[in-house]
Amino acid sequence: MRQPIADITPETKAAEITGWVHEIRDLGGLAFYVIRDRTGIIQATIVKKKAPEAVLEAAKAVSRESVVRIAGPVKAVDKAPGGRELIPETFELIARAETPLPLDVAEKVPAELDTRLDSRYLDTRRPRIAAIFQIRSTVMHAVADLLYREGFISIQTPKVVAAATEGGTELFPIAYFEKEAFLNQSPQLYKQMMMAAGFEKVFEIGPIFRAEEHNTVRHLNEATSIDVEVSFADHEDVMALLERLMKNAYEAVFERCAPQLETLGVALDIPETPFPRITYAEAIDIAAPRIEEDLRFGDDLGTAAEKAIGEEMGSHYFVVDWPTAIKPYYAMPYENNPELCRAFDMMHPRMELSSGAQRVHLHDLLVEQIRAKGLSPESFEFYLQPFRYGMPPHAGWGLGAERVVMTMLDLANIREAVLFPRDRHRLTP
Ligand code: ATP
Ligand code: MG
Repeated sequence: MRQPIADITPETKAAEITGWVHEIRDLGGLAFYVIRDRTGIIQATIVKKKAPEAVLEAAKAVSRESVVRIAGPVKAVDKAPGGRELIPETFELIARAETPLPLDVAEKVPAELDTRLDSRYLDTRRPRIAAIFQIRSTVMHAVADLLYREGFISIQTPKVVAAATEGGTELFPIAYFEKEAFLNQSPQLYKQMMMAAGFEKVFEIGPIFRAEEHNTVRHLNEATSIDVEVSFADHEDVMALLERLMKNAYEAVFERCAPQLETLGVALDIPETPFPRITYAEAIDIAAPRIEEDLRFGDDLGTAAEKAIGEEMGSHYFVVDWPTAIKPYYAMPYENNPELCRAFDMMHPRMELSSGAQRVHLHDLLVEQIRAKGLSPESFEFYLQPFRYGMPPHAGWGLGAERVVMTMLDLANIREAVLFPRDRHRLTP
């Protein structure tokens, strides 16, 4: 019976393993085959004078990264990885890997990100890379888990849509029979419609598509968005939810992914909640003197500004009280000061992780705000209609899953947190 490699200890008597040939070292009379499965590595040691003929034959035929099955007694050996080694009595070549390999899994030869992504299936055999995706999986599990526990229902909304969420930029048009259609930029309009549907607390984890023109280390053309929308809630309520969710995700990784964090050499810093809040005006005051560009009230916070503020803040923080003019039409203006709105961004010192707001739930105000952005309410009729038949006040946010993982693990490039990234130059694999 196949045993996970990590379960084999110096006390184990005998074992059968299946896995990949990580390394081969032939010293003449002695040969070491380091075998790897997803749990770890073990050294299989062949003493040529003593080994059965069939073992010698099979071992000679294998190449690195071939899939093999090996069975035999286990011996405690101090110098071997994990303090034990396997002495093959049987050695079966299950699937031979061609040589040369497109990528050195043992990482003796460093590879560029592009080369790695071209052979992602080999790249992910590296424990360091596998660790990223095990942690990502834990984050996604923890996120869904918290939302279910808090009474949310999970929804799936269309990814082929007729209207842009926020106007024409960053859209991918697609061929959809005789009609003009796009890939969705965000589930924004649909999750809001589900507030009129009476669901009260919804979340969706799904792809968003953005035709970002520039290649940056924090933008993808296809990203994963964690979206929530909550009825009878304001922006403060959903900011508190976001804090709970972030803390829960970090704690889950801390508790369940110690080996992966060690493999990555990451000392996880669980962020303290509540996150500090600064107003947009304060953010401008912090950034303006620290960056070269001209930055004034009413400008978007660009990369340089985000960086300058991040250095000052040093941990996760919120930027609140944004000018209504630079946030989407669905952000609710303050009644006593409609120049500002109930929108927020949740930031990691390195970049934005989430945008959210209390939404406009009043039909006429929404129409007014759509017009103010130079958009036409007619093309949003399917979205506006529910606002005429009893729309509760509501609030929500969208959180980029890849950015959460990227900042959590201090990855240099967001592509490290996606199995098959889509960017301007990459459409395969
Ligand atoms: P940025 O200004 O950093 O490009 P944004 O403000 O355009 O982001 P939003 O529309 O607010 O992004 O989307 C909500 C969240 O979704 C972002 O905070 C981010 O975490 C994530 N996100 C948005 N666009 C991308 C993208 N192209 N690649 C990866 N994540 C993204
Ligand atoms: Mg944003």
